[in-house]
Amino acid sequence: MFQRSFSRNRNRKWQGNNNRARRSVLRGQNSSVSPSQYINKVQPQEGIETYTVLHNFSDFRLDERILNNIVARGYDKPTPIQDQIISHALEGKDVVGIANTGTGKTAAFLLPIINKILQNRAQKVLIMAPTRELAMQIEEELRLFSKSLNIYSILCIGGTSINRQIHFLRQNPNIVIGTPGRLKDLINQRFLSMNQFETVVLDEVDRMVDIGFIKDIKFIVSLLPQNKQSLFFSATITDDVDQIIHSFAKSPITVSVKTKETAQTVEQDIIKVNSKEEKIQKLDFLLRQEEFKKVIVFGRTKWNVERLARALQQKGFLAGSIHGNKSQGQRQRTLAQFKQNQLQILVATDIAARGLDINDVSHVINFDEPNSYTDYVHRIGRTGRANKQGKALTFVS
Ligand code: AMP
Repeated sequence: MFQRSFSRNRNRKWQGNNNRARRSVLRGQNSSVSPSQYINKVQPQEGIETYTVLHNFSDFRLDERILNNIVARGYDKPTPIQDQIISHALEGKDVVGIANTGTGKTAAFLLPIINKILQNRAQKVLIMAPTRELAMQIEEELRLFSKSLNIYSILCIGGTSINRQIHFLRQNPNIVIGTPGRLKDLINQRFLSMNQFETVVLDEVDRMVDIGFIKDIKFIVSLLPQNKQSLFFSATITDDVDQIIHSFAKSPITVSVKTKETAQTVEQDIIKVNSKEEKIQKLDFLLRQEEFKKVIVFGRTKWNVERLARALQQKGFLAGSIHGNKSQGQRQRTLAQFKQNQLQILVATDIAARGLDINDVSHVINFDEPNSYTDYVHRIGRTGRANKQGKALTFVS
């Protein structure tokens, strides 16, 4: 089954193209594209039923003004996670959404939250996310869904001025969106009090744990009031994640939208390489192909990523990099350029790319292999989003 699927993939990609030079460049002298765990493990599983969406947005008891903003945002039907979570969240229940990025989980929690605030302007909501980029994306989405509704939010993330954040916190925003490290600093300096939050969202809890925020999360969560609504999102539920959820959720409703969506919308393949030079040569070749329009290339370390981005720039590619050694401002600029198609290639480390929501990424290239299978799934999830087709290629030596 595995071998058959693999051949089919390969045939679709490379056969029918009589360009021998192209094949030999990609395969090298004595190697051929060979199957690996990356393809094997993410094959769509037989027997998983496709979820049929049961509602229209207008079926939920959402404020008319929110419905208008959803239309303006261009959303036609709810995604499966939205379909299953919105009513429960609107009823005030605690919810656990097992969903990765690309499933529409952000709107699944933002829409009920905005509705809650419209019903009671004194509502205070805390949204915690693992990375600065994800926190910024949540805020961007929030702005679109709460357009003209006078809902105020503040972004509390590292890498930006804490004084500005303190200033805006004093103005009593409805929603605080932050990363655990900066939130903890603000709490410790007594500029942020946790007992005001009646609703809390923990987004991508598994990644927060992966990054090493578990102590900070437990600290922050321990300060939240007993009586509150909690919404959790995580691509996987590990023991640590489960412990966090059950430390303060009240019989949560669990909704699972598995990564099979990623498997179905991302065509995956492997490119075998024998040396570093060959890797660069093949990457160069691929990036010059017409279809490689918007590509994220993953490297393993900050240094590798920076070196690769520079090498690509020297070859004339429009490439930028994001990794932990870049300032917040630099990262934001690069990201904006990539989003607006001013850059063809974004070279990134796993951490820097976590949770990025970029439309129409045509390819993900794993220039360095990921450290774990979880990282692999996160990486390839940058493409094939919102049911568009994407491709993921992994260099294997
Ligand atoms: P998320 O998983 O929240 O990061 O969302 C992934 C992408 O899907 C984002 O670009 C969203 O704007 C888009 N999206 C979310 N919900 C819908 C929807 N109901 N219809 C169309 N696109 C959506």
